[in-house]
Amino acid sequence: MNAFEPDKHFHKVSDIPFTLLKSWGVRGILLDIDNTIASRGKDDFSPPTLRWINTAKKEGFKLTVLSNGFPWRIKRACKILEIPCLIPVYAWKPSPRNYIKGASRLGVNAAECVMVGDQPSTDIKGAKLAGMRAILVDPIDPKSDLPWTKIKRWIAGRK
Ligand SMILES: [Mg+2]
Repeated sequence: MNAFEPDKHFHKVSDIPFTLLKSWGVRGILLDIDNTIASRGKDDFSPPTLRWINTAKKEGFKLTVLSNGFPWRIKRACKILEIPCLIPVYAWKPSPRNYIKGASRLGVNAAECVMVGDQPSTDIKGAKLAGMRAILVDPIDPKSDLPWTKIKRWIAGRK
């Protein structure tokens, strides 16, 4: 098994069909923040992203964020998105520890959880180690990546 291999790849979060998540038996969604639902370090959540998150809530999915960002960044994003802040700390992705904790705090099993993120070497690898589904999206603004993130993307073999 390639640890970096996502179950699916979409251009952006709002392209992910809820029917697909339901067909997988997914009930919980862990969202990366930087370059997945906003540009790195910015609160520029797009209207389609906000609509997708609101629809997910209405469809009965449980959501939270799992980020290697600063705690203040995580708490602020959860507040803006009006979702519970269940892992309000640096997540240490790809360690599966906080993925498992996130699923448990959402009230679902790891197998009923999907991680959505833009980095194969952290978001996707950690989800696979935790026994979760993983969806890769294209980074919103790859130019804003930190230097080591650019290197990790290259290692993970992304184009
Ligand atoms: Mg990211």
